[in-house]
Amino acid sequence: MIPIAKPDIGNEEIDAVSEVLASGIIAEGERVGEFESAFADYIGAEHAIAVNSGTAALHTALLAHGIGKGDEVITTSFSFIATANSIAYTGAKPVFVDIEAETFNIDVDLIENSITRDTKALMPVHLYGHPAEMKAINEIADDHDLVIIEDACQAHGATYNGQKVGSFGTGAFSFYPTKNMTTSEGGIITTNDSEIARKARMIRAHGSQERYLHEMIGYNFRMTDIAAAIGLVQLKKLEGYNNARKRNASKLSERLKDIPGVTVPVIRKGCDHVFHQYTIRVKNRDEVVACLKQSGIGTGVYYPIPIHMQPTYIEARYNCDLPVCEKAAKEVISLPVHPGVSEQDIEQIIENVIAGVK
Ligand SMILES: *Cc1c(COP(=O)(O)O)cnc(C)c1O
Repeated sequence: MIPIAKPDIGNEEIDAVSEVLASGIIAEGERVGEFESAFADYIGAEHAIAVNSGTAALHTALLAHGIGKGDEVITTSFSFIATANSIAYTGAKPVFVDIEAETFNIDVDLIENSITRDTKALMPVHLYGHPAEMKAINEIADDHDLVIIEDACQAHGATYNGQKVGSFGTGAFSFYPTKNMTTSEGGIITTNDSEIARKARMIRAHGSQERYLHEMIGYNFRMTDIAAAIGLVQLKKLEGYNNARKRNASKLSERLKDIPGVTVPVIRKGCDHVFHQYTIRVKNRDEVVACLKQSGIGTGVYYPIPIHMQPTYIEARYNCDLPVCEKAAKEVISLPVHPGVSEQDIEQIIENVIAGVK
């Protein structure tokens, strides 16, 4: 079996968790603070605020920027549902812009058409680990006085012109087990704005900075020291993990790029793609999936139903025209690329893709 995702949990993580359990301080304690400092340093952001999921990180980031009812947030429909849900939780409306066919990220040329008087923020998603076009996004945000909230849940360590994603605007990361690094469940917000950081810390803990004094209605989004202890170990391994993903991706592309019927991922100039997913396009996806499955190779389709076509966002379906996104949803297939994939596995994956597209 070659699974599509496999968290790498070893003795170091187990020892770190055991130490927390033995200490008796098993909810938020010192490990959380240490993890926040280490992650902020890694991203090159002034502040990091740890929470209990990537979804909570996105939600908190939006609330910290004061986004709510009557506001619009521009994002893409070709993402995990949490991207849009985080916007909906605040009472704001997600506005979907189409994607570029090559990177699957927001098409920056289409953003300005969707800006209205109510637009407050842009939420680019660095999908599959490939950075969105941050130069253009920054310029649009400056021109229209918009906030940038980056959904970096798939892009820990990815860089755009040498700068890590999550440091352009307010960043949100997920540490779910399938991501480039994990804390089991977990998430984090990154920002250079101390006021946003202060608000995010309050939102995470029932609107409270001082114990039992509640200045706003917040949530319980706290991360545990158990999760942070795993995160501290995983963060040290992240560069190694990402390098292994990039190596695997380049081996897959080397062989698949010349196969008729297969479109391999692109890496834009100035971008460092961290390959959360290695995603190709094929015309006969069902056959390719079946062929790989028969040989015990897991695949993923991210995402078969775009957000604007989900029953919960049915209203959006009639208000947007997203042909590139809808086509991608029919053609994409992700192949195992995680650090646990061996040279031999890659051969087997390639053989089966070739057999499947025929
Ligand atoms: C994983 C993910 C999220 C949500 O993270 P959770 O930790 O699962 O809540 C949000 N957006 C994207 C693009 C993701 O991949």
